[in-house]
Amino acid sequence: MIRTRFAPSPNGPLHLGHGYAAIVAHDLARARGGAFLLRIEDIDAARSRAGLVEDFLADLAWLGLSWDGEVTFQSARLGSYAAAGERLRAMGLLYPCQCTRAEVIAAAVEAGPDGPLYPGTCRGRVVDPEGAAWRLDVAKAAALTGPLSWTDELAGAQRAMPERFGDVVLLRKEAPASYHLAATLDDAADGISLVTRGTDLFAASHIHRMLQALLGLPVPLWHHHALLVEADARGHWRKLAKRRGSAALADMRRAGEDGPGLADMLRAHRFPAGISLGKGVESPP
Ligand code: GLU
Repeated sequence: MIRTRFAPSPNGPLHLGHGYAAIVAHDLARARGGAFLLRIEDIDAARSRAGLVEDFLADLAWLGLSWDGEVTFQSARLGSYAAAGERLRAMGLLYPCQCTRAEVIAAAVEAGPDGPLYPGTCRGRVVDPEGAAWRLDVAKAAALTGPLSWTDELAGAQRAMPERFGDVVLLRKEAPASYHLAATLDDAADGISLVTRGTDLFAASHIHRMLQALLGLPVPLWHHHALLVEADARGHWRKLAKRRGSAALADMRRAGEDGPGLADMLRAHRFPAGISLGKGVESPP
């Protein structure tokens, strides 16, 4: 049975883009007789805001979306992240890094999907592990896994290119695991067979595929949908973001707007003025 999930982070209110993502995940599951799960990605305690989760649940219900089973929270699963981190460390695939963000930016010669590409400064160096971030040695991991592939049901077959990220951080000083490690482990633990999310996270799937191979996890199918975009002050299209003033679903709900009606508009790709659907599919290289 197909299982999808919506996995918001409680660091800001949900906006139309989140609503659209939730509808995609929900409708794909329902159309195929599967289950739709809700997971709160609250691993980053410093950025997570109490009270938002209640709003998230109310927003989804207001849109007419129902989820299956209990809502899960990443903050309750820290032990599984630590255990996987230990396994990768024992395999000799992680190394400690004490570089600050400013140092990474200064040393980077290329841009990666997440910003400046880490050039491997601490790889092979003796670094104090106390308080360090732990990075995945992607070249060493690739030698172990061999070539990998994955499939996006919209973009087609992909050759995994985790090296595009450089040596990503998997365990962090201030958070028990990075998004990449936590989301990959949770999708496997929750039996998610179709991972739906926006194209902004398309490249992340290269790394997730590698983690699945290293940790012996099942490989799902992916569905990266186009993002809702709006023009910024300079007329450039940007993905919706609350900080740029995109309306919060909670505000619309409290104002008595019609939730199921809005959901149907999003399904029909009829968006409020100034908002449209961005580029859809990232084609294979
Ligand atoms: N928590 C992520 C976000 O809010 C979603 C990640 C995912 O769907 O894999 O952007």
